[in-house]
Amino acid sequence: MKIDRRTFLQGAAASAVLSSLSGLTPGIANAKEPGANTGLLAKREGEIKYHTCQRNCADRCLLKFTVQNGRMTYVEGASEMKKMGTSPCVKGHAYVQYTYAADRILHPMERAGKKGEGKWRRISWDEAYAKIASRLQQIIKDHGADSILPYSYSGHEGVIGKYGGPSRFFNAIGARKLDRKVCVFAAYEGLKSVTGTYQGPDPYDNIYTNCYISWGQNETATNVHGIKFINQARDKGAKLLVVNPIRTPIASQADIWLQPRPSTDTHLASGIMKYLIEHDLADLEFIKANTLGYEQLLIRLNEMSYEEIERVTGVPTAKMFEFAKVYGESELSVLRLGYGMQRNFNGARMSRAIAMMHAVAGQYGKIGNGFIYDNTQADDSLNYSKGRADHIHPNPDTVGHVNMTEIAKALDPENPIAYGKPIKPIKAVINYNGNFVSVAPDSNACRRGAMRDDLFLVVHDFLMTDTAELADIIVPSTTQFEFPDMGTDYNCYHMQTSEKVIEPLGESKDNWIFFKELGAHMGLDRFPEMRVDYEQILRDFLDTEEPAFRHNNITYEQIIRDKFVTVYDQRPYFGDGKYKTDSGKIEFYSEMMKEAGFHPVIDFGLPEDEMLPEEKNLPFRLLSPAIPQRANSAFYNVKYIRNFPAYFAKINTEDAAELGINNNDRVRLNNQRGEAFFIAQVSTQVVRGTVMAPKNNWRRMDPQGKASCTNNLTTDTLTDMGGCSAYHSTRVALTKA
Ligand code: SF4
Repeated sequence: MKIDRRTFLQGAAASAVLSSLSGLTPGIANAKEPGANTGLLAKREGEIKYHTCQRNCADRCLLKFTVQNGRMTYVEGASEMKKMGTSPCVKGHAYVQYTYAADRILHPMERAGKKGEGKWRRISWDEAYAKIASRLQQIIKDHGADSILPYSYSGHEGVIGKYGGPSRFFNAIGARKLDRKVCVFAAYEGLKSVTGTYQGPDPYDNIYTNCYISWGQNETATNVHGIKFINQARDKGAKLLVVNPIRTPIASQADIWLQPRPSTDTHLASGIMKYLIEHDLADLEFIKANTLGYEQLLIRLNEMSYEEIERVTGVPTAKMFEFAKVYGESELSVLRLGYGMQRNFNGARMSRAIAMMHAVAGQYGKIGNGFIYDNTQADDSLNYSKGRADHIHPNPDTVGHVNMTEIAKALDPENPIAYGKPIKPIKAVINYNGNFVSVAPDSNACRRGAMRDDLFLVVHDFLMTDTAELADIIVPSTTQFEFPDMGTDYNCYHMQTSEKVIEPLGESKDNWIFFKELGAHMGLDRFPEMRVDYEQILRDFLDTEEPAFRHNNITYEQIIRDKFVTVYDQRPYFGDGKYKTDSGKIEFYSEMMKEAGFHPVIDFGLPEDEMLPEEKNLPFRLLSPAIPQRANSAFYNVKYIRNFPAYFAKINTEDAAELGINNNDRVRLNNQRGEAFFIAQVSTQVVRGTVMAPKNNWRRMDPQGKASCTNNLTTDTLTDMGGCSAYHSTRVALTKA
């Protein structure tokens, strides 16, 4: 077979699947020939259930599960949906193993030793409910309901699983609010300061572009199914430009790849703007019609030299010019901004500069151009307030908040704080859809907080995670496949069904039934909102007058019948020239940025400016992005996935040579927050002065037996705007272990 760029790029994802299913994949291939693999073909016979992958992944695949005698036997993509092929990614392929994993927790358990000692006693659900209810009621009586904190994030992204079920319970008891701001919010602010929104064009229209720019995005890990649209554009001659400090698979395939030092994107975008303006490649007609503050932009850009840009970014000026020329000469360019870059102390400011650059190039408002970040049109249209029953919270405006990125600070044994201010001690955490000891930054401090004797920790999960092992009571959750839900896309514009695929395994209970029954044990069934069924919760979310929903007449019945619907906002995006800023224009000069304390045009601040000296002077920046075989802290236990390395550190070849580190050596990373141990992967994949280690690996799965994880090292200081995590603004020392 001839290998062209399309097969090569898609192969990056496919090879993960092939190697992960060794022994099974040849059967899949052979099964296309009737009679070649009767065992596997037989697994495809049965009832088909449509179910959306509810991982925190932009693809949000609609999957088809085969069910035989109540057991899930086979999974494939719902290829009738344009974004899908027949194949999910490596993680989706493993869903049968994920669901029937041998280590699933299938009954409630109570701690029978000290916290974290690993001694458990099996208890009944009646006992679990009685113990949890009485302890929570005592805490409410003694300390107030605001000393109870929910913790959850993206373990389940369905509208019931994530919000509708659990939030009703926490609203009913009047619990403290968790601000789920680990991601996107810094970029939201930066992008809003330019165009007024973080929404953008439908990626289906990427096939019409002349130039696709992947900026800080690793499509082969986090947007596998989007690659085919890029390839279709490239087959028609489109250029592929990539900006990433890591040589991702798509960077390897790019026409031009720029490898800046981490967090120097404001400088790089400014250099590209300068080039466009100086070489008559700025779209002056577009700028005149659609923007304000261009004069101030010219002044600000003149204050920054190419020499300084090269010094800061490490990108040779000539290479940057080459990139800018291709970009500026492309009639239609679409830019895809990744989620990682904004997790920095200057995340909002970098996002702003990149969005401004795209305006200088005049690349908004046509099919085939635009700026794609977080297409939450469907999600933003839902009636969250009604779906979560926010109105039953007794004091929603005055109850305290905790930012999930700062959970370690909130659980601090001595001085609990939230948003820089002292708070009264949190006395109970109910953890569901999450695993904060692995996922939150400063993992050692998270663990110290979870280990507090006076903290009642309840974990609703189906696996013994780093957080579950510290619990007082563990109650078994179902997987997403064991109850009905719906989910929204955040790349394409879809709302999708999640049919119940199988009955709950063992004694597990899903995210609504657990909280509904716990609520009943606490007398909360006096609220009608705590007595409803799944369908009513979904109908409450869909009870919306948002235009994106209403002009398509989207109904509950339609989603159930058709399995997916498209929630169109506008096409082409910004085609009417109406931007969502206060001025209605693209703002090169921003009062919003000024009010936030930053330069109103371009702010060149870097993360190192804000680090404590003991961290600032450490030699390496640590990047901890996603890897294709995991989704946050999920899939760590799955048989066909767990042997993919997740405890490696990629080190630049020259840095490794200076430190005498070779491939596969054991290495130690450390800073003032702790240490973590990895296997070295020496490579030019990362730029000098940077180390890359996967995010959210589990302490208890550390193959070196040192119970370490990447988040032992990461900072919990928030971003410049939006209150988002800033994992990548972390510096470390590196030594051979
Ligand atoms: S993790 Fe992403 S790519 Fe994989 S099956 Fe789920 S939605 Fe699809």
